[in-house]
Amino acid sequence: MVATSPPVPPDWDYAPAPESADVVSIAPRYGLFIGGEFVPPADGGSFATLNPATEESLSEVAQAGEQDVDRAVAAARAAYEGAWGAAPGRDRAKYLYRIARVIQERAREFAVLESLDNGKPIRESRDVDIPLAAAHFFYYAGWADKLEHAGFGPGPRPLGVAGQVIPWNFPLLMAAWKLAPALAAGNTCVLKPAETTPLTALLLAEVIGEAGLPPGTVNVLTGDGATGQALVAHPGVDKIAFTGSTEVGKEIQRAVAGTGKKLTLELGGKGANVVFDDAPLDQAVEGIVNGIFFNQGHVCCAGSRLLVQESVADSVLDRLKRRLGTLRLGDPLDKNTDIGAINSRQQLDKITELSAAGEQEGAQRWSPACSLPGRGYWFPPTVFSGVSQAHRIAQEEIFGPVLSVLTFRTPEEAVAKANNTPYGLSAGIWTEKGSRIFWMAQRLRAGVIWANTYNRFDPASPFGGFQESGFGREGGRHGLAGYLDA
Ligand code: NDP
Repeated sequence: MVATSPPVPPDWDYAPAPESADVVSIAPRYGLFIGGEFVPPADGGSFATLNPATEESLSEVAQAGEQDVDRAVAAARAAYEGAWGAAPGRDRAKYLYRIARVIQERAREFAVLESLDNGKPIRESRDVDIPLAAAHFFYYAGWADKLEHAGFGPGPRPLGVAGQVIPWNFPLLMAAWKLAPALAAGNTCVLKPAETTPLTALLLAEVIGEAGLPPGTVNVLTGDGATGQALVAHPGVDKIAFTGSTEVGKEIQRAVAGTGKKLTLELGGKGANVVFDDAPLDQAVEGIVNGIFFNQGHVCCAGSRLLVQESVADSVLDRLKRRLGTLRLGDPLDKNTDIGAINSRQQLDKITELSAAGEQEGAQRWSPACSLPGRGYWFPPTVFSGVSQAHRIAQEEIFGPVLSVLTFRTPEEAVAKANNTPYGLSAGIWTEKGSRIFWMAQRLRAGVIWANTYNRFDPASPFGGFQESGFGREGGRHGLAGYLDA
């Protein structure tokens, strides 16, 4: 008999599969979208928007000042008192459908542009951000002529001009979350995208122009925090919708207090992903990975705290580490990439600082072997075990690819630990017992709770938080309430 040596596992690797950046044409300079056209800012100021994967400048974008905010609010008011205000729901629906269709037709362009400006993997912008953005416009198009039947009583009326300030983690999707319900309800909008990710909002402005919405119905003001501040403070705005950090959310709440403006805030989170010993562990590991490493962890509802039952903690951690070893970090435009670039130098510094604090406070830090590109902003997937509840990495929103692992013995302990945070946005439960899912869901203080899955979004499903995670709901029928005087 001939002796055979054990088969050597093949050294499989993925060949690069880059999406072409040629599908987008980025202008060297952009103006502000006011009254249906791109116009230069009053004082001529601008700033560069970078590709975080290379640190190269993509374009120069206008910096809107107070005069521009004035112009945009006046244009939105004129549209509200004019063509858009007079348009019946069935006509508003047609416009929203048209926007959704154009986003679908130009999906590839939107996806590439989003990955270039934000640093997120093309797989995510192509399969999640852009389809969901289109889905929001489709969904709210369906409500535009049915507001009488949405459960807000007879004759619900729009509020007027909505000022909407959005963050950089899901730039186009957040714009869709804000614009679609506001327009369906009959409001007009002034949208302020984040400083580091203005490009897809500007492409959306172009699409809105193409879709033929009356001029001034949607205005897009690029700029920094000062632009957002001026928009929030403007007396001509009837409603403020904000997504971003809890700190700025509180500032906005103070600025709006006593003005009569309606306010919704979608702020930070420190979501607990709770894994019981009867959970299908391999499936749970996929959910843990998706919960915290999706979009580099730049997700307000990220499952950034893993609570795992003590009896399976070692097994879950082993499987998790093995799985993390297979994630590919690098070029966001490569279709095989799982982890893209961190959105900005500032965010990278914050993640680095909080991770160092985790080590100093005594938690054990682990990352898979992975080499980081020489240029751009990068952070490896990181797991902290031995985390205690008092650690900063268990309390503060890191907003990066960093998971804090804690253990529990009983469901009561899991609930107490999951709720031990000032936030209250999201949670996940992994168990095969339906009764335990209901028991936990009744006790967890979180606006969104997933069972045996994580980070699933649907335009028909309301999203929002408790406590320091904000108030008001976006998505679903509930998402209309923030834009109606009912
Ligand atoms: P911010 O809350 O500062 O930014 C969100 C949006 O608000 C941006 O468009 C920003 O403009 C604008 N803005 C900033 N200051 C003001 C103000 N005083 N009045 C009105 N608008 C303002 O978030 P950052 O981007 O600075 O991120 C900081 C931290 O916030 C992150 O590390 C993360 O922890 C958290 N965060 C949470 C998000 C969430 O969804 N939960 C989303 C984004 C961040 P500009 O871009 O110019 O600063």
